[in-house]
Amino acid sequence: MKMICVYCGSNPGRDSRYVEEACSFVREMTVRNIGLVYGGASIGVMGAIADTVLHEGGEVVGVIPQSLVDKEIAHNGLTELKIVGSMHERKALMAELSDGFIALPGGLGTLEEIIEVLTWAQLGFHTKPCGLLNILGYYDGLSSFLNHAVHEQFIKKEHHSMLIIENNPQRLLNQFLAYKSPLQMNKWIQRDGM
Ligand code: AMP
Repeated sequence: MKMICVYCGSNPGRDSRYVEEACSFVREMTVRNIGLVYGGASIGVMGAIADTVLHEGGEVVGVIPQSLVDKEIAHNGLTELKIVGSMHERKALMAELSDGFIALPGGLGTLEEIIEVLTWAQLGFHTKPCGLLNILGYYDGLSSFLNHAVHEQFIKKEHHSMLIIENNPQRLLNQFLAYKSPLQMNKWIQRDGM
């Protein structure tokens, strides 16, 4: 695994431990020689993780749409900054460059991005691991909602299990390295056996 795409907030969050834990996580990536692909901003959790990886001597590739270069204040010290034409191009390129996808705490953008790559995994468009680092229990609510969706038969248990949820960076990365996609299954619950 060479590069992991990390989605996270363009805000730092209320509790300083969100940023601290996010930085510890990317340090662990760097120790394992895994580079960072992210949204290219210099603000919030996004900026903090990029600075940390660069400080530790790791590789950071940022992908940002031209329209956000000023708004999110594009990071000007990255190993590489790729400026693209739209949000869709940003997400497609981030996905292409990465061997796995992890969301740290973040807002709507973060949620949208991790859920999108998870739906691509569910449909078999890729076989890369997807995960949440559940810092300070930030994703407890999303995790219970997904369990509810499985219980109500809108998500297959096997597809829910494609999302690795962990609060420990080492365990999350170990699971990423060992991940095998359960690709053969049908997405549609009532088509089992067809
Ligand atoms: P947020 O989690 O809302 O703080 O946003 C984190 C990152 O996601 C920022 O770089 C946003 O530009 C980005 N983002 C927000 N909305 C979207 C979207 N619809 N598609 C892709 N990225 C987005």
